[in-house]
Amino acid sequence: MVICPYCQKDIHLDLDTCPHCGVTMIYLYKCKRCNQEIAATGILKFCPLCDADLSDQMN
Ligand SMILES: [Zn+2]
Ligand SMILES: [Zn+2]
Repeated sequence: MVICPYCQKDIHLDLDTCPHCGVTMIYLYKCKRCNQEIAATGILKFCPLCDADLSDQMN
């Protein structure tokens, strides 16, 4: 389970939208190395395209 950042309720990890408040759990990253925008339904630590470290983009 993860906690919805909007309504603070539990969400099953298989869901990419919150069943309580309807928000879509999408995380957007922009990779500095390959210059691609990446949308993920979870936390990404590495770029799926070039393996660059994305951890400095967290917030
Ligand atoms: Zn929610
Ligand atoms: Zn990349």
